[in-house]
Amino acid sequence: MPIAKTVHKWTRIVPVRFLRAPDEADPSADSGNPEANAPDPDDRGFLPADQGCAVLPVGRDESVAEADIPETRVRLSRQDIEDAGVLHVVASDPDRLEVTVPAAGAALPAARKMMVKFKAKSAGEAYIEVRFGAAEGPVIHRLRVVVNPLRDVRLAAHVPTINGAAANDSSGNAVAARSIRTDGDIRNLIEDVNRIYFPHGIRFVLDAAIDRAGVLNFTNQGFVNDMTDEFDRTTALNRAAGAVNMYFVPQIGSVAEADQVGGSANSSRGQPRTFGSLIADMAVGGQTVAHELGHVLNLVKDSHYVHVNTVHDPARPGTGRDVRDDIVSRRRLMWAYTDFQIAGGMPYRDDVGYFFNGPGCMLTVRNLAGDRTDDEMAEVQRNAARLAAPARP
Ligand SMILES: [Zn+2]
Repeated sequence: MPIAKTVHKWTRIVPVRFLRAPDEADPSADSGNPEANAPDPDDRGFLPADQGCAVLPVGRDESVAEADIPETRVRLSRQDIEDAGVLHVVASDPDRLEVTVPAAGAALPAARKMMVKFKAKSAGEAYIEVRFGAAEGPVIHRLRVVVNPLRDVRLAAHVPTINGAAANDSSGNAVAARSIRTDGDIRNLIEDVNRIYFPHGIRFVLDAAIDRAGVLNFTNQGFVNDMTDEFDRTTALNRAAGAVNMYFVPQIGSVAEADQVGGSANSSRGQPRTFGSLIADMAVGGQTVAHELGHVLNLVKDSHYVHVNTVHDPARPGTGRDVRDDIVSRRRLMWAYTDFQIAGGMPYRDDVGYFFNGPGCMLTVRNLAGDRTDDEMAEVQRNAARLAAPARP
């Protein structure tokens, strides 16, 4: 008797794929710091309806002279194809993208991982096409590139003095009343932040003067307990209108949680009058500051979630309860933690391209139906536009 329904599985070939290019010169380098011109491709979910390829966000500063527009870089990795297979890279719209590496007419090198560089010539979308055999050969893969014009958002930085009962951190060290950061430290952090947001067309512009005049009288010296009204009292201090207000403080959280919270923030959509961000001295890199600014720009936008990997839980205010832990979630800027907590043994999951144990900086461009934390680039752009708009009279 014939079976009711015949079922086959088929082989699907993936000749090449695109990857972030952390090192400007070395296409074999898989890990490195965030870089404005080496964006992280959103390479999740290749349904044909979504063009069947990864998508790369690219920033373009319209105030820069055309000749000085920097190259964007991305890597191409061979999967089901020999290193000797001749590959060319072509822009679908030369008015939007100009491929600079490899040089016009030249093939990619016969290597497993190859560098591709191009210049973004105008805002909008186009494809980088991978062609087989010749520049006019058949397209075997492509990358959707979204070029975003750069928008400035004002950022006012504050370094308040926090008076209160003398307190020690978890190492038993006395906590000072004020952050140890210099103005130069703060400027460097914001430069790091701008490397992360540039591909999405957002630049935070720090006020010329950093406010060091504010004084807060709280429970403990040097601590903001962000689970109490101390958060709103901090973001009200010397608040600049029409700006993101960011407060650099020694410690965030209760004394018992000292040294565990790197930053704290709320949404400019959800709390339009009190929104802002706190950054503790334990936050060493721009990733944490960029993450908090993600919250200010209303990420994660689905209110069920707190982060891409956690949902609301009254028992774990702020961070939330874990609902997933995978290498793509770890690569996303809105991952809940400052590290991966579990170290060693599995390099593929402990290094997601931003050095060992370092969470990544990817904001999603796609809006996959099954992922309510998605569509991050559009959301940060919408809210940055709202913040950058002139105040209504
Ligand atoms: Zn967070």
